[in-house]
Amino acid sequence: MEATDETARTVTGDLRPVYQIMRRLNLGGDVASVLDAVAEGAAATVGFAVAAISYLREDATLEIVSVAGSAEAREQLVGTLVPLALMEEELALADAWGSLLFIPAERLADLPTDGWIPVADAAAPRDEPSPDDPDRWRPEDTLRAPLRSPEGELLGLLSVDLPLDGRRPDAARREQLEMYADLAGIALGNARRAVDLAEQVRLGAAVDAINSEAVASLDAAQVVDRATASIAAALRSDWVRVRVVGAGALPGTDHGARFPTGHAETPAPVVAWATREACDHWAAGTVSLTTVSADGAMLTTHTRHLDTATRRPVAGGAAGWVSQPLSPRTDIGDEAERAAVLAHLHGNDLSSMLMAPMGAGTDCFGYVVLARRDGAGTGDRAVPGAVPGAGGVAGDGGAQGPADGAGSGAETGAAGWSTHEVRAASQVARHLGQAVLNARLLEREHVLVEQLEALDVYKNDLISTVSHELRTPLTSIQGHLELIEDDPAAAPAASFQVVRRNLDRVLSLIDDLLTLKRLTDREATSEAAIVDLHQLAVDAVAAFRLHAQEDGVRLVLQPHGGPLLISGDHDELERVALNLVGNAVKYTPAGGEVSVSVERSERFVRFVCRDTGLGISKPDQEELFTEFFRSTNPEALARPGTGLGLSIVRRIVQRHGGSIRLESELGEGSTFTVRLPLSRL
Ligand code: ADP
Repeated sequence: MEATDETARTVTGDLRPVYQIMRRLNLGGDVASVLDAVAEGAAATVGFAVAAISYLREDATLEIVSVAGSAEAREQLVGTLVPLALMEEELALADAWGSLLFIPAERLADLPTDGWIPVADAAAPRDEPSPDDPDRWRPEDTLRAPLRSPEGELLGLLSVDLPLDGRRPDAARREQLEMYADLAGIALGNARRAVDLAEQVRLGAAVDAINSEAVASLDAAQVVDRATASIAAALRSDWVRVRVVGAGALPGTDHGARFPTGHAETPAPVVAWATREACDHWAAGTVSLTTVSADGAMLTTHTRHLDTATRRPVAGGAAGWVSQPLSPRTDIGDEAERAAVLAHLHGNDLSSMLMAPMGAGTDCFGYVVLARRDGAGTGDRAVPGAVPGAGGVAGDGGAQGPADGAGSGAETGAAGWSTHEVRAASQVARHLGQAVLNARLLEREHVLVEQLEALDVYKNDLISTVSHELRTPLTSIQGHLELIEDDPAAAPAASFQVVRRNLDRVLSLIDDLLTLKRLTDREATSEAAIVDLHQLAVDAVAAFRLHAQEDGVRLVLQPHGGPLLISGDHDELERVALNLVGNAVKYTPAGGEVSVSVERSERFVRFVCRDTGLGISKPDQEELFTEFFRSTNPEALARPGTGLGLSIVRRIVQRHGGSIRLESELGEGSTFTVRLPLSRL
């Protein structure tokens, strides 16, 4: 601590070490050495055998990072941890000496000893005041100076013990001590700000990079896949799981990604809990942090508020206040979920997990879970010593100083998650959610465009087919009408028959078109009633009996014991039966046979129409149920038809939750089997 310039040589006595410390602070010296100098100054200049500086970590533990006194005291004390809660009990008993807190030995009698400054081996005081001197320093006397940020937040404590003159310090020495405490407060405040800044810059850049990567892809699955490993790296996580559930605002299927990619599927109860938890946090604008207790037996979930830092006074406010970002809960899910989450974390060797929800507007549709093993993350960095490359702090920081490797951390949140990391995780999840949403919407838009294009093609096809189908019979009607008009008396009877047949064809085409329209109309609902399928078969066979007789086709109904009830639309199902039986009769040449039967199994009923007719070739079978398709077989084409019957049948069967199957060989006949679910009534 040699001052070299002219000014320094003029500063002497008690002020000199203070000047040296100020100078170091201004020059951006590393925090650990500033704190050492403060402890040294507090001990040597103010006159105490021991001075120790502890640092308040974000996990509410005070850790001794700097000790002045004997080497033994240093070795014994550096790294000692005391929970703030314990210290608060003690501080509550203190007398305020200006900004110092003095706890007379008498008052400490009832408190449990906490191992704080057990300096039995420290150098003995030089003077020994008489035992009845009221100002005599008692072995249990405690004097602490809170180290505060300029805003008043508690950052640490400067504790002194064993005054060299054996007395409780007078006003002048207290003032000196306050001065050293102020300097230590400034040093710690600077360190924290520098670390804050460095961490903010690093995370800001990482979040930006992840966001740009996410928006660079228009494929939702790719967005999630790509982001996952980057999130793990940026947020120093050993385990990452991104899960997107297709719901509400987010159409599409579920998607997830993991880091490392090989890790096992998350058990269902954990997913159930996490999904619920994520949605609660989305609504509240918070994230959750779940930690496993040191003995591994218990889980605690903390809610992290992103916008408001909660503050709690320390020891009634005498020492300042501390940030209190945590509100712990142990009521995690139900018992089974709690056990599953604990087992899941154990199984993956994880000790804490941070969960940030994904969503848009009021809709929550997933989460990003980041997890760490013990000691991972920023908790590894030694603050206050370490501020490499940030805030102009010189030296190689964390590699030096008393806090080296001690796992302290100004920015270390509970279980190693800093406030900045928590905020970054939340931002990443939000952006990722937005990117996934955009990609999904785009995908949906593409599908819709394709559907619209297909619909357009279909509509054009329909118009030309319908025009064609109408033109043929109408042209024929026109021709024969002209013949009749020319000479009504001489008009052949056949002309009237042709007109009649073609008119029937036009009417049945229009009838089929209207039916098709009704079936494709999303708004239209079927009339649900109890329908007897057996009766429908009886009626359909009766309807075509005469026709079959005229064509020389044997039409038989296989006997069935009685009614076969299903739930459905009577008229629609009647149409199915009539169409299949009608086709079978129509496409079966004279001498053939059509056989109709109904049967039931445990859960289904079947309507089977078998014929020994023309049969259908394999290529024709592929397209048989599409609108306007008519067989390529000239023999079949010669018979009148619209090509709409089977497509109507298929739609009706589908609307009833059933299916239709065709077995056919060209020249050998066909069997159509309709399967419908049995009525539950
Ligand atoms: P349409 O009978 O009015 O032409 P469909 O949609 O009912 O229209 O039938 C489509 C095509 O399927 C028919 O043109 C016909 O070639 C063929 N088809 C339908 N049923 C049979 C069957 N039982 N035997 C042979 N071919 C059939």
